[in-house]
Amino acid sequence: MSYQHLQQITAPTPGSELARALLTTAGERQLFINGEYTPGSSGEYIDTCDPATGQVLARISNASAADIDRAVAAARNALSGPWASMTPIERSTLLIRIAEKIEAHIDELAELEILDQGKAWAVARWAEIPAAANQFRYFAGQAMSIEGRTITTSVNYQPQGKQVQAWTVREPVGVVAAITPWNSPLVLTAMKLAPAFAAGCSVVLKPAELTSLSALRLCELIHEAGLPAGVLNVITGDGRTAGAALAAHPGVDKVAFTGSTATGRAVLAASGSNLKRVTLELGGKSPAIVLPDAELDITIPGVANGIFFNGGQVCVANSRAYIHRSIFDQVVEGIADYGRNMQLGHGLDQATQMGPLVSKAQADRVLSFIDGAKRDGASVLCGGEQLGPNGTFITPTVITGTRNDMPVHCDEVFGPVLVAEPYDDIDEAIAWANDSEYGLAGSLWTRDLSSAQRLSRAVKAGTVWINTHSMFDASLPIGGMKQSGYGRESGQLAMDNYLEWKTICAVV
Ligand code: NAD
Repeated sequence: MSYQHLQQITAPTPGSELARALLTTAGERQLFINGEYTPGSSGEYIDTCDPATGQVLARISNASAADIDRAVAAARNALSGPWASMTPIERSTLLIRIAEKIEAHIDELAELEILDQGKAWAVARWAEIPAAANQFRYFAGQAMSIEGRTITTSVNYQPQGKQVQAWTVREPVGVVAAITPWNSPLVLTAMKLAPAFAAGCSVVLKPAELTSLSALRLCELIHEAGLPAGVLNVITGDGRTAGAALAAHPGVDKVAFTGSTATGRAVLAASGSNLKRVTLELGGKSPAIVLPDAELDITIPGVANGIFFNGGQVCVANSRAYIHRSIFDQVVEGIADYGRNMQLGHGLDQATQMGPLVSKAQADRVLSFIDGAKRDGASVLCGGEQLGPNGTFITPTVITGTRNDMPVHCDEVFGPVLVAEPYDDIDEAIAWANDSEYGLAGSLWTRDLSSAQRLSRAVKAGTVWINTHSMFDASLPIGGMKQSGYGRESGQLAMDNYLEWKTICAVV
């Protein structure tokens, strides 16, 4: 594949007015507090760029601690306003209306996400934006399924003629700080907002500074759908100041964080100030284990897609592959061929299969892992190039001959880089898979479903896929073991993040 076209890359004209305006005006975007746009008190702005070309799309407000105070106060206030008296069916109807709004603006939201993050058209338009809408549809159902229990006690000291009756109820946890990363901005935001609204919480959302535009647009659509003012507030800005102030704020009851393990640790430490509830969806280094009987027509594209989808900027990406030695050469060559044939380009060009990485800094970081692997004696089978006018494209890369103490093998690269190694014995492959500080996900590729079932229990990870990887659905809980975090998003379990249990015990 020749990549000449990347040197002069320009953004094709988007279909939506909103995306066209970004390419012509690079305007300032304000914070959204208590139902309206409001300027940040610092007067500072941060440029947000199209990573493919480096063109500035907009300037987002850099929120100060005083802005966080205002947003948290608005969210706290909203908990005693009309939001508190909405019935489950009213919240459920609102969530369906939000899903419909997303679906009605699907092309526009996809274009925003492509311009701001660098996604390929198909990734944004056909995978992530529909998945964001589905989160709201799924949690519309959950809003109407909030239940407590009645409890039969053994208490025997009630006054004569009286009875003890006890039951539990679920109550919203309160003000939620939702902090999101840059790799899949809209869908990861939806994974927090949908269950928080279903439970009756209010939210202060802090999107990643590199990719805040779709969160601001989603916020407008959510208010058009009828969310009362103050229930959702969007604070943009730098993570180390705005994010840190939000994570530490005493008016926040719960932090729902998705991002790197290092930042997760800082968020957890900050939450100690008032013992906030915390869920952490963090990094990963997920293994794909290919057994000798794997169906190669499915396995080769499946493992390739598991690492190259969204340029490898996926928390669950299978960045390690352990392949049985008897089929190693065939599988690894097949994955390398898949990578070599991928069309790289601007995400607004519908022929593009992989766009740029989110920033030059991220591309430099990914390249440094590849260079380090070469220095350590590993072989780069394909890829390993940094391209584009802005240096943000990294070609799909497959590396062999690594050891598990090399950074490329054990650290989260978060780019289109697969390390692949042969194994002889399945127990050895499972031991390598588990030899990681992360435990987010993994996959097994085999025709033998009884082996797969047994081995799925041996892989230490929050999700194990069989003959697929990165398969998401609003009904499937996702989250990590070990240093990939704790708590689960999506699925019924996610409601527990946003609801407290209250026990009521009465003598009647
Ligand atoms: P990051 O940790 O740098 O930033 C995440 C968010 O935290 C951003 O909004 C950032 O502004 C904010 N932030 C930064 N410092 C902060 C602080 N001290 N206090 C509070 N907030 C702060 O992560 P990133 O580079 O944006 O995203 C990539 C990471 O996210 C990868 O490690 C990836 O694996 C992880 N991720 C995990 C999941 C999952 O579900 N487990 C999903 C997607 C991404």
